[in-house]
Amino acid sequence: MTYVPNTNRYDKMKYRRCGDSGLFLPEISLGLWHNFGHVDDYENCREMLKFAFDQGITHFDLANNYGPPPGSAEENFGKILKQDFGGLRDEMVISSKAGYTMWDGPYGDWGSRKYIISSCDQSLKRMGLEYVDIFYTHRPDPETPVEETALALDQLVKQGKALYVGISNYKPQQTEAIEKIFKELRTPFIIHQPRYSMFDRWVEDGLLETLKKLGKGTIVFSPLAQGMLTDRYLDGIPKDSRAARETGHLQQDAVTEEKINQVRKLKILADERGQSIAQMAIAWLLRHEVVTSVLLGASSVRQLQQNLETLENTAFTADELAKIEEILK
Ligand code: NDP
Repeated sequence: MTYVPNTNRYDKMKYRRCGDSGLFLPEISLGLWHNFGHVDDYENCREMLKFAFDQGITHFDLANNYGPPPGSAEENFGKILKQDFGGLRDEMVISSKAGYTMWDGPYGDWGSRKYIISSCDQSLKRMGLEYVDIFYTHRPDPETPVEETALALDQLVKQGKALYVGISNYKPQQTEAIEKIFKELRTPFIIHQPRYSMFDRWVEDGLLETLKKLGKGTIVFSPLAQGMLTDRYLDGIPKDSRAARETGHLQQDAVTEEKINQVRKLKILADERGQSIAQMAIAWLLRHEVVTSVLLGASSVRQLQQNLETLENTAFTADELAKIEEILK
């Protein structure tokens, strides 16, 4: 059956300006790192994408290596775009990245001009797109001159293959260094994608401040610590969870008793707020003005649906915030 998007899709979602740029992103975006590869159920991928779009999620985040196998999330996404999203391209913000190992030999990794440009070409082909809205350098390359990486991204914009550029996993100093070059080039560099959750707060040590100062947007990944900040692991490791799946990046030994005890304590507070643990963890990130969007993963429509309800309550009292600090200490 032909997919007809929900006509009310823009009513509930809120959109935040991405730094000082003209682009708005939904407060919740969907990432395709897990659950969208060839190893996954294709119809479930389709359902999740349609559901997300129906709820006002306009931003979909990919990378060359998402799958498995690498590249297959982009292939599936491209197929679904063609099957279901015809005519809707201009209502979507699609991103991809290059920076981690993608193909054999010396040209399939890191931040050289050779790798970035050919990888973007491959991504566009896999997704069947003429351009992506945002193309990222996925991680800083300690060996390649930062000018080279910046110039490669700038060229993608000049070639019409990307509208904006972004950086991911860059530390504050590295962010300032590459920003300086983009500024000279007048490259539309608008966004940083770092990991940020209650369990991983490295960005609070200078990065958020730097991004605010530079007027850049921030989209935070693994906001639920890959599922740990939910009720998923309260009674052990379920068979269908990311930690149990062979293709999942969450190691079982990362799901420690100490972490789960903290989650149990967070649950008490979340219950008092009338939220799930996941909802509270998402709201806790959205309370920062500098956070443009929370980039969620999901393995089902149900999870997405539950997580989207977060937007009904993103406010915290000082007392609640203090309690969270106490639990995370
Ligand atoms: P999350 O922290 O949101 O983890 C998502 C996982 O949490 C789901 O797959 C699901 O796991 C579980 N989950 C979600 N909601 C619920 C719920 N309501 N109840 C129970 N479990 C739930 O994010 P990801 O780690 O998936 O990262 C999100 C995106 O960020 C990626 O898709 C990618 O786009 C981006 N990213 C970027 C990186 C970078 O270097 N730039 C690195 C990593 C991610 P389960 O499968 O067990 O159901």
